[in-house]
Amino acid sequence: MLKNNGCIYCSLYKTRTNIVNGEGGDSPDFLFVGEAPGKEEDKLGRPFVGESGKILRWIIRNSGIRNVRLTNIVRCRPTIIEDGRNANRTPTSDEILACSQHLLNEIDKVKPKIIIPTGRIPLSFFLKRKPESIKITEERRNVFYWNNIPVLPTWHPAYILRGNTGALEEIIDDIKYADIILNKSISKEEIYLISDPKSLRFLFDRIENAEIFFADLETKGYEGEIVGTSFSWKENTGVYVPIKTWNGVSHQNFWNNEEFVIDRLKKIISDKYSSIIWHNAKYDTKVLNIYWNIPLGKCNDTRLLWSCMYDTKMSGEPAFTSLDYLINKFFPYWGKYKSEVQSRFDDSVKDYSKLPLNILWKYGAMDALVGYKLYFHLINILKNDENFIYGFKGK
Ligand code: SF4
Repeated sequence: MLKNNGCIYCSLYKTRTNIVNGEGGDSPDFLFVGEAPGKEEDKLGRPFVGESGKILRWIIRNSGIRNVRLTNIVRCRPTIIEDGRNANRTPTSDEILACSQHLLNEIDKVKPKIIIPTGRIPLSFFLKRKPESIKITEERRNVFYWNNIPVLPTWHPAYILRGNTGALEEIIDDIKYADIILNKSISKEEIYLISDPKSLRFLFDRIENAEIFFADLETKGYEGEIVGTSFSWKENTGVYVPIKTWNGVSHQNFWNNEEFVIDRLKKIISDKYSSIIWHNAKYDTKVLNIYWNIPLGKCNDTRLLWSCMYDTKMSGEPAFTSLDYLINKFFPYWGKYKSEVQSRFDDSVKDYSKLPLNILWKYGAMDALVGYKLYFHLINILKNDENFIYGFKGK
């Protein structure tokens, strides 16, 4: 930590009251890097304690992340005389260059897992680009890497104070996205095609013993024959079980004893009916009833939960609670599988049997994985919101 008389690398030392060092975890998951101290920070010697800094601290507290550190790219307040008073100004490139050594030392010492530059000035440092060439609107949701550390930019909270109120929600989104990158990176996602009896037995054991699990059907057109099923019974895992056909070709003997597989699946679904989360129970249970003669029962449904939460912004865009919004923001990797499948469909008939197995199984397994996570996400929001009067089954 620099002492107040500890640095004279640039001329800002002449006007500072305090050097503003980083504050927070010594081994943080998230390092927020701002531009420079303002009046309040200079007075107190602490980062992000002025008006906009307090907003950022509030956002961080309410976004659910922990183990955070706050710092700035420049540690003394840059000022300019306006109307006879000292006002804040953007640090010059020379000041940034001079002070960056302190930031590099700090990063080297605390080794953050993710860096979140707030605004284009700190982002320009990590991207080694001119600030004028950077627009946060375009760079948000991109993951950059700086010395192997993920860098995810967001707005500076002062942007909200300048009248851009929508940026508040966007900063929250960006922080949640950073949390996903940190904790639920795609490398941790595990998806499997169940294509041999040994794996199938393993799957049956797992879902028979699961307290709650996700299941989804892929069918031959709307309300058509069941082509395959996908399951998830634990975080970050999804599997797909092919049943009958794919790519328009019949593979009746895929399992040698297809009836055995269907009978076991029927039994599991019937026995564990109330423990299953469906993405769209209204559709899937109807199909099960028609083709596998499974009686309808009470079950969990992500679409039903979503309908309890759905709201639309005044602009007509999906709101924070819409299903599309949640999937795209929280599980962005899923979009790649979804768009691959959608590009192959005639919109009127979603016949999954026409898809090549190598596309279908990944899509099905990812669907299960996302559905499982989404259910817990939705239900946790609903459980904590008194405004929702719907009764729903779940943990
Ligand atoms: S801004 Fe940084 S480099 Fe300049 S005097 Fe302050 S601590 Fe030193």
